[in-house]
Amino acid sequence: MRPRELSATLSLFPAKTPTLPPATHTNSYALGGRDVLLVEPATPYESEQRAFIEWARSLVSHGRKLVGIVPTHHHRDHVGGLATFSRELGVPVWAHEETAARLEPEARTCVTRFLAEGDTILLDGLRPETWRVLFTPGHAPGHVCLFEEHTRTAIVGDMVASVGTILIAPDEGDMERYLVELERLAQLNAFVALPAHGEPIDEPTQLFRKYIDHRLMREAKVLESVRKVGPNGADAASLVPVAYDDTPPHLWPLAKLSLEAHLAKLVREGRVIAAHRATDAAEFFRVV
Ligand SMILES: [Zn+2]
Repeated sequence: MRPRELSATLSLFPAKTPTLPPATHTNSYALGGRDVLLVEPATPYESEQRAFIEWARSLVSHGRKLVGIVPTHHHRDHVGGLATFSRELGVPVWAHEETAARLEPEARTCVTRFLAEGDTILLDGLRPETWRVLFTPGHAPGHVCLFEEHTRTAIVGDMVASVGTILIAPDEGDMERYLVELERLAQLNAFVALPAHGEPIDEPTQLFRKYIDHRLMREAKVLESVRKVGPNGADAASLVPVAYDDTPPHLWPLAKLSLEAHLAKLVREGRVIAAHRATDAAEFFRVV
């Protein structure tokens, strides 16, 4: 059943979205006891949007006040309802500048405040809450998380998920930065992390560290695959079956994106050399 009350001042509303399988839904959250912040204006589907608006209006009818809408980042399964909700509910959108820059023009006009690292959002109520903005790029250039010190609750967007995996794509992702930000989340020592996909995560520190370990394991396999192909090097497509030999082939198209993000990090670190083949300008990789 939705919405779900996670506590007196926190509720979760999962809505169907065009997200990456096996996930099918994106979680939106309402934070705060009197002032209410809505996080993830996610769904683009009309019937789901109607249900979301009904939920948001029910919060208001209980004497609460919607103060803002925050998308954690610009991906389509996070901002599909942004313009509609802002307009229908009369609530401004607060987003990181890099997120705002990637929104459709109509949605961009709804943004009235740019969120940046260290900003705080004070939500008044019986027990006021202060949510701190953490700028956590890596998965997406404008990705932000929110952290409340008293309840040690973290809104983590697409930094981790309890359903599916997090894609770090080479175009707008940054593997190196993603790992740094995961470590920063681990150091929060949060009691609970609320992801955009899947169930709330109790004691999430271990999971953040598991994600880091998993990526470093994969990085080692990527480096090893480059080493195996020898001095002539290979392109990304031919490295996938080696670096992802433990992954079913139907996932290799997605794996290739991750592999390219790993390669970009290894190249930046000077551990792998990227060169262009003279005949067809294809990029290929070899060890230093
Ligand atoms: Zn995303």
